Amino acid sequence: MQAERLTFDIKPNANPMPEADRLKAFENLGFGTLFSDHMAVIRWSADKGWHSPEVLARGPFAIDPASSVLHYAQEIFEGMKAYRRADGRAVLFRPEENARRFNESARRMAMPELPEADFLDAVEQLVRIDAKWIPQGEGSLYLRPFMFASETFLGVRPSKEYIFCVIASPVGPYFKGGAKAVKIWVSENYTRAAAGGTGAAKCGGNYAASLIAQAEASAQGCDQVVFLDAAEHRWVEELGGMNVFFVMNDGSITTPPLGGTILPGITRNSLIALAREEGLTVNEQPYSFEQWKADATSGKLVEAFACGTAAVVAGIGTVKFNGGEFKIGNGETGAATSKLREALVGIQRGVSNDRHGWVRVIDGV
Ligand SMILES: *Cc1c(COP(=O)(O)O)cnc(C)c1O
Repeated sequence: MQAERLTFDIKPNANPMPEADRLKAFENLGFGTLFSDHMAVIRWSADKGWHSPEVLARGPFAIDPASSVLHYAQEIFEGMKAYRRADGRAVLFRPEENARRFNESARRMAMPELPEADFLDAVEQLVRIDAKWIPQGEGSLYLRPFMFASETFLGVRPSKEYIFCVIASPVGPYFKGGAKAVKIWVSENYTRAAAGGTGAAKCGGNYAASLIAQAEASAQGCDQVVFLDAAEHRWVEELGGMNVFFVMNDGSITTPPLGGTILPGITRNSLIALAREEGLTVNEQPYSFEQWKADATSGKLVEAFACGTAAVVAGIGTVKFNGGEFKIGNGETGAATSKLREALVGIQRGVSNDRHGWVRVIDGV
């Protein structure tokens, strides 16, 4: 319906954070605790479609207590990063994939689709106005586009009003302790997604359902939780917010196949392509927890890692479950894992040739 491209009304923040304060905050970046000066917002209603696009000072929304998102969790999001390259350019990594996946999530959650060009424009407008918020060096500006149901209505049906918004947060490394391999907890009590459910959609509800398992992982002294399939509690699926890969001693790589219960990660997709280019065999096939244990013990499995935009690539050193734990390799991040991580980061940072055209330079920054 929306043939016309949206034109953002730009209203610069009258009280941006003073530069000295920002640079001070940059010295100790965590993940998702500090936010930039602006946000991009677009509204949707059943009668007007997408309207009122603006970039304005970041601040609270006034929403009615009966806003449907607060009751029925009709909400989706994306996660992407803007990087400051050594040549000074600000770049995004495969943002078109985020725009496309956002609409796949929207369809699953009975929400309106946002034209990809408008999604990208909102993200780029925000990066442009908050370009000084992109940290130099290893940090990046994490971008969080999201959409929620904002109609004041308690009946159960798709909302007739939505707010789309993009906020930005300068980030350092996702895991404290840097490149150290993580310890993960295998959840045998809780599952993340079932066939026909919302596992392939990036919706807040999936995360809400995973938090108790993540809390169990923390209580077990682990960094992250890994979920098994809901039907048989047998097949390894993914972590709460990251896909998982296994590296075998013949150099081949296995990762669970996308089948509706796993989030189709852009990092996952990129690493599969890079590994194949390195001449490695990548098998997208089911891998059971029993096999995982057996292969780690026999030495057939030499490395495992988790991946996603936030953490990029994180080696898995130890796996703990109800009844024991085992190490993978020597318990450190392995060589194949590091090599893949470097290949990906090299493209994102402009150090290696972007032969796939994955990097999008933001003009005017
Ligand atoms: C976002 C997400 C990922 C990783 O996706 P990327 O596109 O690589 O950032 C993996 N699993 C889940 C559940 C996620 O929400």
